[in-house]
Amino acid sequence: MIKQDATDHRQLHIESYQADLVVVGGGLSGTCCAITAARAGIQVILVQDRPVLGGNSSSEVRLWVLGATSHMGNNNRWAREGGVIDEILLENTYRNPEGNPVIFDTVLLEKVMLEPNIRLLLNTAVFDVTKSNAQTISSVKAFCSQNGTLYELSAPLFCDASGDGVVAFGVGAAFRMGAESTTEFGEKFAPSTEYGELLGHSIYFYTKDTGKSVRFVPPAYALQDITQIPRYRRFTAKEQGCQLWWLEYGGRLDTVHDTEAIKWELWKVVYGVWHYIKNSGNFPEADTMTLEWVGTIPGKRESRRFEGDYMICQQDIVEQRTHYDAVAFGGWSIDLHPADGVFSEKPGCNQWHSKGIYQIPYRCLYSRNITNLFIAGRIISATHVAFGSTRVMGTSAYGAQAAGMAAALCYKGQLVPRQLTEIDHIKVLQNELQKTGQYIPGFKLVDPADLVQNAQISASSELVLTELPTNGEWFALQDSAAQLLPLRSGTPMPEIVTWVHASADTELVVELRCSGNATNHTPEVILSRQSIYIQSGRRSIHLNFNVSVEEDTYVFICFLKNSLIEMCYSNVRISGILSAFNKTNPAVSNYGKQQPVEDLGVDAFEFWCPDRRPNGKNIAMQINPGIALFKADNVRNGIARPTNQPNAWIADLTDEKPTLLLEWPDIQTIRKIELSFDTDFDHPLETVLMQHPETIMPFCIQDFSLCNDRNERIYEKQGNYQTRHTIQFYTPIYTRQLKLHLQKSHQTVAVSLMEIRCYQ
Ligand SMILES: Cc1cc2nc3c(=O)[nH]c(=O)nc-3n(C[C@H](O)[C@H](O)[C@H](O)COP(=O)(O)OP(=O)(O)OC[C@H]3O[C@@H](n4cnc5c(N)ncnc54)[C@H](O)[C@@H]3O)c2cc1C
Repeated sequence: MIKQDATDHRQLHIESYQADLVVVGGGLSGTCCAITAARAGIQVILVQDRPVLGGNSSSEVRLWVLGATSHMGNNNRWAREGGVIDEILLENTYRNPEGNPVIFDTVLLEKVMLEPNIRLLLNTAVFDVTKSNAQTISSVKAFCSQNGTLYELSAPLFCDASGDGVVAFGVGAAFRMGAESTTEFGEKFAPSTEYGELLGHSIYFYTKDTGKSVRFVPPAYALQDITQIPRYRRFTAKEQGCQLWWLEYGGRLDTVHDTEAIKWELWKVVYGVWHYIKNSGNFPEADTMTLEWVGTIPGKRESRRFEGDYMICQQDIVEQRTHYDAVAFGGWSIDLHPADGVFSEKPGCNQWHSKGIYQIPYRCLYSRNITNLFIAGRIISATHVAFGSTRVMGTSAYGAQAAGMAAALCYKGQLVPRQLTEIDHIKVLQNELQKTGQYIPGFKLVDPADLVQNAQISASSELVLTELPTNGEWFALQDSAAQLLPLRSGTPMPEIVTWVHASADTELVVELRCSGNATNHTPEVILSRQSIYIQSGRRSIHLNFNVSVEEDTYVFICFLKNSLIEMCYSNVRISGILSAFNKTNPAVSNYGKQQPVEDLGVDAFEFWCPDRRPNGKNIAMQINPGIALFKADNVRNGIARPTNQPNAWIADLTDEKPTLLLEWPDIQTIRKIELSFDTDFDHPLETVLMQHPETIMPFCIQDFSLCNDRNERIYEKQGNYQTRHTIQFYTPIYTRQLKLHLQKSHQTVAVSLMEIRCYQ
């Protein structure tokens, strides 16, 4: 028993910890930063003021994680973020294709819990910062309300991923809040004060059908007059969660210090909306429905943005400017909202896409005046306009992974973040990131330590794509449809034979297109155009375009819409081979064509996007001569996803025992092997609400094994669903040969491998 006499004062229980990096904020950014740094070998403390990780993606807020794939609604092909965030999203899709937010919490908690180099402090809020001099942080103080403990956390390096920048603000880092004027960075999309300079917060709700009549008595603080919401006619009884992203408020207030007031206003809105749905009589289908969950903290979109040595701006995004220190990429539209949010007469968002993904420089990821402070997440060094794109969680987490890796390099090299901008250091950072699966557009991994670079590579077969067979269903050409095929510079476009069914005599227009920028997938350049007279009935058409391209790129064979025509799908799926359609996707402001009505500094172009699986099949055709760009040698070209070429070894579809053979003239000592499989970087893996048709991406190799030069099986894996697989041999392998046997997962999907690396 503890019994103490009365006293004037008692001290809080204090615990002091030292680490190499303290990450403040356990949203997706802080989590991915901490895991990346910990895996790179440094000791990390991750401090999160909530009971779960994930911030806006957690079950407390329930936003689906988005990034450059943009729900597959823009022209960014194979643009899902790689590295830790990819691993998390694939794990979630494997366990949780239904998108249950509680399961997503467990995925994040497990990932962090399994890292021996991370000390995780949950329910612990950082509230104070100590400096060793004017520019250097020495420690932060944090309090855990659950265990009544005050933590003093010291480190040579800190990363602020708290969303509001609690550390950076407290320590005096230069920041901005609001919007830059057009003149400061020449951003034509800079909003007016009337439109608003800050994005507001949102609170979501989930509903469920109980199967019996349920009444709803609204709380006294619920909005009574729904007409105060100008867009109230858009409500349906079906939409819930982040589908109602436009229940937004607070953009005219201080989105840090007024957050509690904003929350009450959002509760008023949420309960008022549900009162309207339940009790207005306009939604009889809602009679048996009940509120299952309402957020208790708002999702915060925007507050402070901190200044780094570079501020990414609109032109970086739209013009896809290149940076020597690129470490991440973005690809969500520039997505600004009216500050009046749900009470605005204006559309809930104003989104403008770029023609492809854009680079994010390392110089945006640290404070310009606090020497040992990384910044990650929505607070990175971006103008308000650029933030409109960089803020989404896939992109935020991707930049944060770069900050985590940079922190590890800084710690090991005894450097501060700015010193890493020196070109030799940046190259190391880019290479280390790429080794963890972080694709950086415009860069490829150069790794002299990789033994595969000196191996002779051969394979049991290499696909020569001569045919996408006509074994799928027929589809009406209601929307223009295209087949993407890779083409090497200077190689003539092969002859294409395809089949159509015409319900009456008609003209079919076919265009061969490519992107203005060879690494984009915006088919804006018409290389050839043919108008083909087609008589009623089933016909084959022969397309000889007689052109070649100047750079390696994807070409689009575009069949312009014609309601009299049907074409045939192929059931065969091949890594890096896709069809695309000129349809609309209003959820991401894709109306078929982006057409700014005034000069906003954004481009006009068409959207050609794949259909989501289980659709999204290739268009059946014959290709003569066949495309032979799926060579075994691709596995060491330094790029582990399709870009302007497939970058994969792909076995022939008839190959029942696809095998990759690596041979060296001398015996090699191998301790580690890294493999990358195709988990379809084109497919967005939204974490909640959106259902996914599969738990394992169809291109992913699930079962594989490795043999040495004595044909002994040295490794075997079954049931893989991840992009990356690391094999660590604690007793090294000595061999002149490695044979990688890959099992076909599906009869209609070609076996592929994106990358293999071996290390001593
Ligand atoms: C309503 C809404 C809709 C959006 N829609 C989408 C969408 O559909 N998809 C998408 O990808 N993005 C969306 N965004 C943007 C995205 O959610 C944010 O920009 C993103 O969460 C930023 O990530 P972050 O890690 O920087 O911040 P957060 O997710 O906010 O994470 C920061 C974490 O730090 C913690 N923290 C704060 N202060 C402290 C402290 N003092 N001590 C310790 N921890 C602290 C917070 O509790 C939080 O968990 C939306 C945002 C909002 C608000």
